[in-house]
Amino acid sequence: NAPAETRKFEAEVAQVLHLVTHSLYSHKEIFLRELISNASDACDKLRFESIAKPELMAGDGELHIDVSWDPDARTVSIRDNGVGMDRDEVVANIGTIASSGTKRFLEAMSGQQKADARLIGQFGVGFYSAFVVADKVTVLTRRAGAPAGEGVKWESDGKGEYSLEQVELAERGTTVILHLKADEDEFLKRWQLRSLITKYSDHVAFPIRMPVEKDGKPTDEFETVNAASALWTKPKSEIGDADYQSFYKSLGHDFNDALAWTHNRVEGSQSFTTLLYIPSQPPFDLMMGGRDERKGLKLYIKRVFIMDAAEELLPNYLRFVRGVVDADDLPLNVSREILQQNRQLDRIKSACVKRVLDLIEKLAKDEPEKFATFYKAFGNTLKEGISEDANNRERIAKLLRFASTKGEGGAQTVSFDDYIGRMPVGQDTIWFITADSYAAAIGSPQLEAFKAKGTEVLLMSDRIDEWMLGSLSEYGGKKLQNVAKGELPLDEADKKKQEESAKEAEPLVKKLKALLGDRVGDVRVSARLTDSPSCLALSDYEMAPHLARLLREAGH
Ligand code: ADP
Ligand code: MG
Repeated sequence: NAPAETRKFEAEVAQVLHLVTHSLYSHKEIFLRELISNASDACDKLRFESIAKPELMAGDGELHIDVSWDPDARTVSIRDNGVGMDRDEVVANIGTIASSGTKRFLEAMSGQQKADARLIGQFGVGFYSAFVVADKVTVLTRRAGAPAGEGVKWESDGKGEYSLEQVELAERGTTVILHLKADEDEFLKRWQLRSLITKYSDHVAFPIRMPVEKDGKPTDEFETVNAASALWTKPKSEIGDADYQSFYKSLGHDFNDALAWTHNRVEGSQSFTTLLYIPSQPPFDLMMGGRDERKGLKLYIKRVFIMDAAEELLPNYLRFVRGVVDADDLPLNVSREILQQNRQLDRIKSACVKRVLDLIEKLAKDEPEKFATFYKAFGNTLKEGISEDANNRERIAKLLRFASTKGEGGAQTVSFDDYIGRMPVGQDTIWFITADSYAAAIGSPQLEAFKAKGTEVLLMSDRIDEWMLGSLSEYGGKKLQNVAKGELPLDEADKKKQEESAKEAEPLVKKLKALLGDRVGDVRVSARLTDSPSCLALSDYEMAPHLARLLREAGH
């Protein structure tokens, strides 16, 4: 028998606890969602483990989550009959922080006066939100398959230490008991707890039960209070927008409404269901770091949760997508290694990509405001697809929007199709300029000749543009051309004029060449400029100055 003991939290846990409890105060109600989501994960895990070991369910096969309250003891309890934890798991899971995401979480939070509540769910620190409303938390847990004598009692005031004790527990699973702080009485009311369950957890796939109330007190009789359905398995006609939104929130990661979603069932030699969401705001670490731990797309097989499989089911440039994929025909005991080289999965993956691109196209066509929100949040991520996903290059390019010399100020609203639609007859090139900023692009002397001739130029100033253009040499049969490179489009009159001024300037050119020597490749008379006396230009094989600078910054 392991003795009772008191341990210190790992230093990082103590920091996280401090941050969470001090910054989440205005969103304190999310503790319930976080604890229910852990209970639901624990039920998912047990259901998955019991495929190989049916005896783990041991006569208690109906997985459920109970939320109860005790007005006299001033406690709220969340109990599940899921997988539970043994002593080592308790220490590893709630006394230590294993995930590397936590470091980033700490870094992200420490700069901010008031940390953003939506960060919490993204970093796997949900359990600690219990201490926002409780000054003491007790966890009673027994691992599925372990004997009754091997229960574990964990207790802490969330200040720096926790105690661990071996106890006798009659049932497997986990109970989290919150001893509420003095001013948190609102959570001792049934209707309050119940409305929070409806708001955040209605579509958790297991029954969430609450005691029936009599004379203001909980009784021993329990009733189910959530929809408890796997929402994606219902026919679309039976699902309202509010259901979709509430399911989206129960997936975690986001407190806000989703921007849009697409729900599809594919029947055939291979059947599967996808329910995919586009968030309305980028998650905190989309551009940095987000790559190594991609969460947010859950793989189910016949309604059994298998794993987070965002990496296997979506290409990197669609990493902002959240949702569920439920496949009928994959083996339940599939492992991540098998998934990575499963051909059925390839088909599901391309179906996911197609659905998401369909959805974005629909927004672009029918809901310009939503599309603008989408583009602002994820446009630069989408651009990565130009080089990552050659098969869908043209579709993705069609969705891109840029500022333009014929656009509305710096707003990125002009598509390649808009540009082509405005091209005069005879123009077969899409002209663009890249620069560090919109102001640098629009002010560039390279544009003078284009302005004088009324030729539209796309103004590209996002960091990723230059890199993206490396994989995009044409669109819709029109060549994409940097204004700093290559030959300008000249008509006969222009050509004649240029020849004349070239002759006239010959002595000057000679002198300049002699003066500048090796510092330039060539000195030429050009039709590029109308107002400025000179500018630097590139030969076709040279790197754009903007890219050269980026590479220099990156240490090349
Ligand atoms: P996350 O859920 O993102 O992993 P949490 O802080 O919410 O982060 O929970 C930490 C870990 O504690 C979980 O990953 C899980 O291993 C364990 N845990 C929490 N609640 C339960 C529970 N009810 N049953 C079993 N394990 C749990
Ligand atoms: Mg959690």
